[in-house]
Formats: sequence, C-alpha cells, structure tokens
Amino acid sequence: MTTSTKKVALVTGAATGIGRAIAIRLAKDGIAIAVNYIGDSKLADEVVNEIRMFGGIAVAFEANVGVVSEIVNLFDAVIQEYGGIDIVVANAGIAKMGIPIADVTEADFDRINAVNYKGTYFVLQQAAKKVRNGGRIIQISSSSSLYPAAGLGIYAPSKAAGKVITEILAQELGHRQISVNSVFPGPTRTPLMEKEVSKEEMERIAQGMNLGRMGEPEDIAGVVAFLVSTEGAWINGQQIIANGGGRV
Ligand code: NAD
Repeated sequence: MTTSTKKVALVTGAATGIGRAIAIRLAKDGIAIAVNYIGDSKLADEVVNEIRMFGGIAVAFEANVGVVSEIVNLFDAVIQEYGGIDIVVANAGIAKMGIPIADVTEADFDRINAVNYKGTYFVLQQAAKKVRNGGRIIQISSSSSLYPAAGLGIYAPSKAAGKVITEILAQELGHRQISVNSVFPGPTRTPLMEKEVSKEEMERIAQGMNLGRMGEPEDIAGVVAFLVSTEGAWINGQQIIANGGGRV
C-alpha cells in the first residue's frame, strides 16, 4: 500500500506516553502517522524510527498546540506531506496535580488551560475543517473529569470541556460521515503520571483499581484503534471510559 492509498492519522503529543502508543498502534494497523511533538525532536524521532522499522509510515511535525497559528500550520504541513488527514487524535496535554483550589494561581490556571482546553479546542476546530469525509476524530480526555478528586482542581476541569466539544462536533460533522468520540483514560503509567505522582502513590493507586494495576499506554491505544477501525464506525458522539472499571 502506498502513502496515497493509506489512511492518515495526526496524533498530537505523540512523542511520549499515550500518544506514542496510539501512533505506534495505528501505524501497525496500516495507517500513515503524523507524530506531533513540542520541543526536542529526539523522542519524536524515536517514535518515527520505531514505526519505520516495522515498515510503517511516519513523519514528525513540531507544533505547540497552545498556539492557534501553530495548529493551523501543523494541519497544513501534514496535508502537504500526505495529501490529506482522515483521523485526528487530540491527545496532547499537561497536568498539575495535588493543588487545592484555594491555592491555584492564575499563572498555573492559564498554563494548563492553554494546552488542555484551548489547545484541544483549536485542534478539534482544525480537524472539523480539514479531516476528509468519512474520517474519525478522537479527543483524549481523562476519567478525572468524570470522577474528580481533591487536588485536581486545575487539571480535571481543563479536561472536561473536550467532552462537550466532542458532543457538539459529532452533531455538526455527521453529514460528512465523520465520527467524533472522547476517550477517558483512568490512571495510566506515563511520563505525565511519573512527574506528578510518587512511586508509592502510583502503587497505592494501582492497588485500589478494580483490575489491580494502573493502565498502560497500550490499553488506551487499543481503544483508539477500535474506534478508528471499520468495526468502530457506528460509535459516535460517545464518552468511552477506559480505566479498567470503577470510579477512578
Ligand atoms: P505525556 O506527558 O507522556 O504525554 C503528553 C504529551 O503532550 C507529551 O509528549 C508532551 O510533550 C505533549 N505536549 C504537551 N504540551 C504540548 C503542546 N503545547 N503542544 C504539543 N504537544 C504538547 O502524558 P500522557 O499521560 O501520555 O498524556 C496524554 C494525554 O492523556 C493527555 O491529554 C492527558 O491529559 C491524558 N490522560 C492521561 C492520564 C494518565 O494517567 N497518564 C489519564 C487520563 C488522561
């Protein structure tokens, strides 16, 4: 299959964690991948190389999803490279945990929301404009926005808006046979969690989970792979909780 006959997926924040796993899994499923990253290209290049090693197609694209002009340029660059976009996974996100609402600063509020709310919003807007008919749009939210806990007063609300945008977009894009869904990962072992939560706390979280372990990035990638597959075509405008069960 050549690039021109493959489906094309843009995954934001695909150099690490859940985005990385999604990029690799979709590439294994025969989809050409645009690996979006911010900053140092080293980790994004590793993802691209890993995909190329098994015969997949991938190119890395730098863009800060917190800046609308960079999002617009990102979509245009991917279309220039591959000829179009069929799948967008709005995955890029940042976190600040363990802060009571009483202590939240305006600077932290703005920094987190610039990526998680504004960034997601305008990635989804570009997807609405530029994904080809019959495409799929997936927003990576967080189960913390459904089951909010103390200390998540910036992060959880910043991840909540995506669900609303998804439901609206699913209605607005249905006539073009584009489906739009949100995936809500529960606690998942990624650099984001490792930065925010101590090893001991991660162990405690894992033991409190129904299946006795935290999620792995590949658990979430499998859900996304299903949603973008032929079998996932009838799921639209939904919130898929991928947390191994329970209210975490
Ligand atoms: P991660 O830190 O490994 O991945 C986030 C990625 O987003 C990183 O590669 C980072 O460089 C990128 N990114 C950050 N700011 C960006 C920007 N301005 N522009 C472009 N890229 C940017 O962490 P992760 O856990 O894999 O997070 C992926 C998504 O999953 C996030 O949206 C996060 O909120 C969500 N999520 C994670 C968990 C969890 O437990 N790990 C749970 C629920 C939801």
